[in-house]
Amino acid sequence: MISSFFINVLKKQPSLVHGTSPRCYVINGERKPLFCSGKDDEKLFLEHQISFLHSLGTGKKVFFRVTQVHGNHVYVLKNSGIPVGEVGRCEADAIITHIPDCPIVVLTADCVPIIIYDPIKHVVGVVHAGRLGTQKRILTNTVEALSCEYDSNPKDLIVGMGPAIRGCCYELDEACALPLIEKSSLCSEFINKTGENKFFLDLPKVNRFEGYEAGVLMENIYTDGPCTSCENHRWYSYRREGKTGRLITLAMLQSRE
Ligand SMILES: [Zn+2]
Repeated sequence: MISSFFINVLKKQPSLVHGTSPRCYVINGERKPLFCSGKDDEKLFLEHQISFLHSLGTGKKVFFRVTQVHGNHVYVLKNSGIPVGEVGRCEADAIITHIPDCPIVVLTADCVPIIIYDPIKHVVGVVHAGRLGTQKRILTNTVEALSCEYDSNPKDLIVGMGPAIRGCCYELDEACALPLIEKSSLCSEFINKTGENKFFLDLPKVNRFEGYEAGVLMENIYTDGPCTSCENHRWYSYRREGKTGRLITLAMLQSRE
């Protein structure tokens, strides 16, 4: 059994499937690691991919992902017939699509997995927002790509964030904190200075304010997910563990008649 993380408001959308995989699943009463291997063991990854897709009821055996590079490029999935491997070679940190029955995912371990859904145009996006991608405004670019490609109005968008490292645990030095402090006049809401050269950053919150600045309504941005480092028994945390597995955050549109 796989107990994924869901964002309540997205769960209520009738034609959207979504979820973030946990670090363990239970089989025959035994806890086993999920998506623990990445590229080291492709066969195991594919097995877990099938189990995860099945647990969410997608009816699919593969998902679309890109090569994530902590940048700000958005991949637009326009053609359902494109091989997953071809999409997988593209470097980007977000995917958007209008195509039903096409699961799109991002992989994270501390970085923020973000799902953006437009219930009016019925289009969806997934975003991988780490510190560097956030600095480069990957979420803003994704909101703009939805407007540009699908005529989405930012005011209609629902933005939900999954498990990620939060202000309780994400310690930075000044060199890393400064670009984020300079990014927003609201930085005191997401960065806390606790000492000389010592800062704490709440990654979902900084993205919440970025979404707001990109035109999404504050009340439509949900950031109440757990901290991956505090709740490391449930979620992978790169900063806490070093080499580790990945959480997979998936979104899939279903056709609306
Ligand atoms: Zn924490």
